[in-house]
Amino acid sequence: MMNLTNISTVKSILEKYGFSFSKGLGQNFLINPSVCPRIAEEGNARKGFGIIEIGTGFGTLTAELAKRAEKVVAIEIDSRLIPVLKETLADFDNIKVINQDFMDTDLNKIISEEFKGLKVAVCANLPYYITSPVIMKLLESRADIESITVMVQKEAGQRLCAEVGKRESGAITVAVNYYGTASYLFNVSRGSFMPAPNVDSAVIRIDVNKKYSLEKEAEEFFFKVIKSGFSQRRKTIANSVSSQMNIKKETVYSALKEISMPENSRIEQLDMNKLILFSEILRNSK
Ligand code: SAM
Repeated sequence: MMNLTNISTVKSILEKYGFSFSKGLGQNFLINPSVCPRIAEEGNARKGFGIIEIGTGFGTLTAELAKRAEKVVAIEIDSRLIPVLKETLADFDNIKVINQDFMDTDLNKIISEEFKGLKVAVCANLPYYITSPVIMKLLESRADIESITVMVQKEAGQRLCAEVGKRESGAITVAVNYYGTASYLFNVSRGSFMPAPNVDSAVIRIDVNKKYSLEKEAEEFFFKVIKSGFSQRRKTIANSVSSQMNIKKETVYSALKEISMPENSRIEQLDMNKLILFSEILRNSK
């Protein structure tokens, strides 16, 4: 089995395949030997589980996942990596690599076809340019996924794990809390990657537990309120929601009154229960 965190192994792969890292695809590969086993262990890679990985790179995390889980389906956009992975992952017979943009994949199809009888978890060292779209796709698909364990930029990790109703929260914090519970697991320094990015990173896990479950129409309305509010978070919620959703300010004021919040509240001051109640009152008063 190749040691993919060994610098001379990585250099020989780069040379053999004439590979150059693509900044645009967020290609910073892990070379710190302790990080991938930790992501795999904290990310539910174990017996009874199938794992979806997003972005394989040279397969460093993929191998750690495959050692522990029943099966790994790894989705990689860069076709230059496919021949590399054939060599680096040759010792495993429980890995399927799909050469596709993750944003174009049909998650429910992958899960029903590849992971029969298994629980499913997602693990990835994410390409940072699409952190939010990837997480939103995973959550909004309502696919049967137990957990999402991902390496993200440190600030993104803090936002994902923030408490709703606190300054650090954002629209994505609300989405994460709507579908599950996020935990900040550990920091990873920039020196753990090749090439080293100019930001630090963190690994977080979202345990998907669908705590809140609104009807489809109510849910769509809720996320419209959230998007309007957070797209202009410095404005009062009455200003942002009334201008973007075409709702009278008086209607917003009376909804705020019903949830015992002042008229000049900003969206970041409302906790999860208040946000849901506020959205339902607005929806029913339209
Ligand atoms: N897992 C490897 C590791 O930890 O060393 C590589 C992680 S690297 C940060 C991100 C990987 O995601 C790269 O291999 C990149 O080519 C791939 N990638 C970027 N955009 C992607 C997309 N839209 N769909 C699938 N893979 C993507």
